[in-house]
Amino acid sequence: MLKVAFYDTKEYDRPSFEYYGGLHQIEFLFLETKLNENTVELAKGCDAVCVFVNDTVNEKVIEKLYSFGVKLIALRSAGYNNVDVRAAYRRVHVVHVPAYSPYSVAEHAMALLLTSVRRIHKAYNRTREFNFSLNGLTGFDLHGKTVGVIGTGKIGRIFIDICCGFGMKVVAFDRFPAQDAGIEYVSLDRLFEVSDVISLHCPLTDETRHMIGREAISKMKKGVVIINTSRGGLIDAEALLEGIKDRKIGAACLDVYEEEADIFFEDRSGHILNDDLLSRLISMPNVIVTSHQAFLTEEALHNIAETTVNNILSCFENDGACDNELCYRCGQIEHCRKERKERCF
Ligand code: NAD
Repeated sequence: MLKVAFYDTKEYDRPSFEYYGGLHQIEFLFLETKLNENTVELAKGCDAVCVFVNDTVNEKVIEKLYSFGVKLIALRSAGYNNVDVRAAYRRVHVVHVPAYSPYSVAEHAMALLLTSVRRIHKAYNRTREFNFSLNGLTGFDLHGKTVGVIGTGKIGRIFIDICCGFGMKVVAFDRFPAQDAGIEYVSLDRLFEVSDVISLHCPLTDETRHMIGREAISKMKKGVVIINTSRGGLIDAEALLEGIKDRKIGAACLDVYEEEADIFFEDRSGHILNDDLLSRLISMPNVIVTSHQAFLTEEALHNIAETTVNNILSCFENDGACDNELCYRCGQIEHCRKERKERCF
């Protein structure tokens, strides 16, 4: 029986992991705490750890895991910016879930956009109090507007399809533009200049951190709507708040926030929020925040558990090769493994 320390467990994680783990003799040790330098000891005696987006898997944590004989870090997310994949190379294997339901995230991005531009969040609150006034609820048509999509991978492309269904014009920027899809790629500056709506679907890397900052915002159209369902660090939240206060940014829809790690995913309603920037953003009438919820559909939860269990099995069985391994061997973290069809180390 393989033993896996499952960090940062939430109520909604357990049923699907218990089900798929039970099918394959994997025992998940469900821990509510996040993985970090203080909690890594809890993984002693385990074969693997299973982590999520706000666990800290830095070099020190990896060294400890390695010294305990932990062989695998199984991310139950697509993004892996919280794992030092370079430090893990030749020590602990790293796998992720590259796609579990890109529809869940793309549809959430559109849900946020529609909520924002049609003021659904305000109308919902009003009618619950029998306030049927329409004052202040004027929105705008998405049809005919230009949406700028940054990152045209799995989620970005589905979001583009959804936007096309609404009759929007789409321009896109990607560091590695797709050759096949009939997408109109433009420079980042051009995208900022022409877009009425900008939606972020690229990963968080050293290059993309704060890609939406003061300079970028200064190049955008007045009234632009910014949607971020990718990673909080893509946006400099202080610059965003300034842009909102200056009336440059028309609305912001945020499913992620740079400093979300100690805030999101928990009920903090009885507490004073120790993050003035987030409090200020939430207090704005044209900002909608959801707490990293975009992935959260039934379909996605099942796919995440099934793929994670398969990732774990393939690393411990047969030749140990796993298509979803992230490895630093050739610098191409995601793609090299698949081409070689062999263990990364
Ligand atoms: P993907 O790997 O399929 O696509 C990412 C795209 O970004 C690729 O086309 C890549 O070429 C592009 N890219 C890389 N560097 C870039 C750069 N510097 N500038 C512009 N584009 C760049 O990933 P995906 O499955 O579409 O997921 C996108 C992101 O969504 C993930 O990185 C993750 O952070 C986020 N995500 C969020 C949630 C959520 O619940 N909010 C859930 C899943 C994924």
